[in-house]
Amino acid sequence: MERALNFNAGPAALPLEVLEKAKDEWLNYSGTGMSILEMSHRSPEFESVLNHAKKLLTELLDIPETHEVLFLQGGASLQFSMVPYNLLTEEKRAYYVLTGVWSEKALAEARKLGETITAATAKPKNYTTIPSLDDLQLRADAAYLHITSNNTIYGTQWPSFPDTGSIPLVADMSSDILSRPLDISKFGLIYAGAQKNLGPSGVTVVIIKKDLIREDASHLPAMLNYHTYYKNNSLFNTPPSFAIYLLSLVLEWTKKNGGIAGIEDINRQKAALLYKTIDESDGFYKGHAEKPFRSQMNVTFTLQSEELTRKFLAFAKEEGFKGLNGHRSIGGCRASIYNAIPLAHCEKLADFMLRFKKMN
Ligand code: PMP
Repeated sequence: MERALNFNAGPAALPLEVLEKAKDEWLNYSGTGMSILEMSHRSPEFESVLNHAKKLLTELLDIPETHEVLFLQGGASLQFSMVPYNLLTEEKRAYYVLTGVWSEKALAEARKLGETITAATAKPKNYTTIPSLDDLQLRADAAYLHITSNNTIYGTQWPSFPDTGSIPLVADMSSDILSRPLDISKFGLIYAGAQKNLGPSGVTVVIIKKDLIREDASHLPAMLNYHTYYKNNSLFNTPPSFAIYLLSLVLEWTKKNGGIAGIEDINRQKAALLYKTIDESDGFYKGHAEKPFRSQMNVTFTLQSEELTRKFLAFAKEEGFKGLNGHRSIGGCRASIYNAIPLAHCEKLADFMLRFKKMN
């Protein structure tokens, strides 16, 4: 069977090998005579799946002892609330860098819970860039600085991360976690919905510095308190067991493909090919993001007119390319090239872009 040329932004393509392994184990997981879907989350088999996922993530991202991995539900969107609920205490202020709609949403939720400051914003530049933080003074009463490491809609990405000293750096890494090496020790908290680089929707990964997990936050609803997940190895209530299982398979696949270094190498080749096609098109294709801040995960571009963009998308669809429409809020085109997208699919897209240009 021919696999789709799937450039969806999330949920997104998963590695074929992962889907095949899940299929093989579908009816009879590890000789248990039942599907992982039918198994108690308290069973030793499931607990070992969860621990395996945690261990692989820790290994792949080189997560130090100072940090803990938690599996939650509610998507990245619930983290927009959980972060301030847990970290923004009354006498403190939370700083947000605005680099797109997702960071705006994160700020909007934090505003409901405490005092916030917009540390910098790229909105006046139509979110084509990542703002400089050179002039930013974080006050001693800063609870944290929140950034969105990759802006899925606009196709911008932080090339490096700000040094916030003793103030926790919090990052929404939903659309680029596991795509490049990270120094986890520089972060207070990282969160990511799984449905791009990690697996299916339904599980949210949180990597939190243990000293930010408050034991005294018992006034918080249990399900909104990081301590609940920490204390119970993410098994306080029924976790999204199938999503965690699939996550463990994606992590195994990542490890087999050279870990983060191997994956990053291919990611760079994929992005370089598409950006080269844009840059060498004599203005036929125009990239949305400023070059130093181009995303390696979401390549966003337009054509010279809306009509031509529509024609491009219609032709692409006919040729079997899926998910190339830009986000409904900005239009244009977007190729999401997460870890599981093979280089060969990007080569087909680049080839199609060249052919379309010649035809027009
Ligand atoms: N943050 C970013 C960077 C995203 O790309 C998305 C979803 N595409 C979200 C947050 C929202 O994620 P969720 O749907 O998991 O709540």
